[in-house]
Amino acid sequence: MIDETEIKNIGREFGIDQLRISSPAPFPETAKIIQGLKRKGYYLSNEYLLKIDTEYFCNIETRFPWAKSIIICALGYLTDEKLPQSGNGPYGLIARFTWRNNYLILKRKLKKLARFLKENFNAQCRIFSNGPIPEKPIAQRSGLGYYGKNGLIINHKFGSWMVLGEIVTDLELKPDPPIEDNCGECNKCIIACPTRAIIKPYIIDSTRCIQALSGWYGPVPEPIARVWGNRLYGCTTCQDVCPKNSTVKPHPPESEIGYVGPGLSLLKILNFSEDEFRSNYAKNQLTASWVDFRAIKRNALICLGNTKDKGFLPLLKKFTDSSDPVLARTAQWAIKNLNNG
Ligand code: SF4
Ligand code: SF4
Repeated sequence: MIDETEIKNIGREFGIDQLRISSPAPFPETAKIIQGLKRKGYYLSNEYLLKIDTEYFCNIETRFPWAKSIIICALGYLTDEKLPQSGNGPYGLIARFTWRNNYLILKRKLKKLARFLKENFNAQCRIFSNGPIPEKPIAQRSGLGYYGKNGLIINHKFGSWMVLGEIVTDLELKPDPPIEDNCGECNKCIIACPTRAIIKPYIIDSTRCIQALSGWYGPVPEPIARVWGNRLYGCTTCQDVCPKNSTVKPHPPESEIGYVGPGLSLLKILNFSEDEFRSNYAKNQLTASWVDFRAIKRNALICLGNTKDKGFLPLLKKFTDSSDPVLARTAQWAIKNLNNG
């Protein structure tokens, strides 16, 4: 029978950066936190945590009665690519984790590991990458990292610049212990968050968080639009300022799956039909089911409104006639913001 050390060695051979083992025991504390966030109204309507049965979600043993262990894995994504240069027309920033489809890259590695375990040890395996499974509590329990006050898991090697994936398996493996570490006195992410979305350490209000709002279709409140900057999808400010991320060594990109890069042309996005958008970025999370295309267009209008370049007024004026009330309203806001600038 294979043991946890061999599994980790083989996983690393398949290109998985970090592997730890967790027990599949329930996460009652996580369930309480999710219920509290639901009661406070801190989830957006497109978030799956709002819709799921919380107790069931947090109980791996109920969901997968055959599960004996969880292999939690991470892929670092801090690459050494350059940020887009200004001068090539207005562009919108794409959050670093979405420059390419890191979840799919990791998932393919997890599939290789799961196939190996099945073929050689007849193991039952179920793979997750980007949910739906309580991946951060699993990472914390297994010592893959600890919770930062920005709500993200911080790993000693990759900081929070990593995506997580899991293999739930019926192999009986020895769990790794949690690590004793925390943010200490640091509050940099809480101070730097442009929308004050980190209500208190570890508690994020998604209805104020640009990362969450950028994929959700609806009107963005004016105070948030004003500090939105030129983010087309996602936000990494609370990661950019984190001292635990400043020592992470960037590496060259290893795969171009779903590549969109650090910035996209706003004018191109505003001209795209939904079909064009989906076929251009087919393998990227930008076209994931929970990211609304209309939200991306709305974000592009907010970005234009924040350029302070009145040359975009005619284009924005066209969008005020849109049959989509959110786009029309956002364009009106953008015009007002440009004229006030
Ligand atoms: S992702 Fe951006 S908006 Fe959300 S908590 Fe972090 S800094 Fe704030
Ligand atoms: S910025 Fe500071 S408080 Fe926030 S996650 Fe990083 S170490 Fe923790």
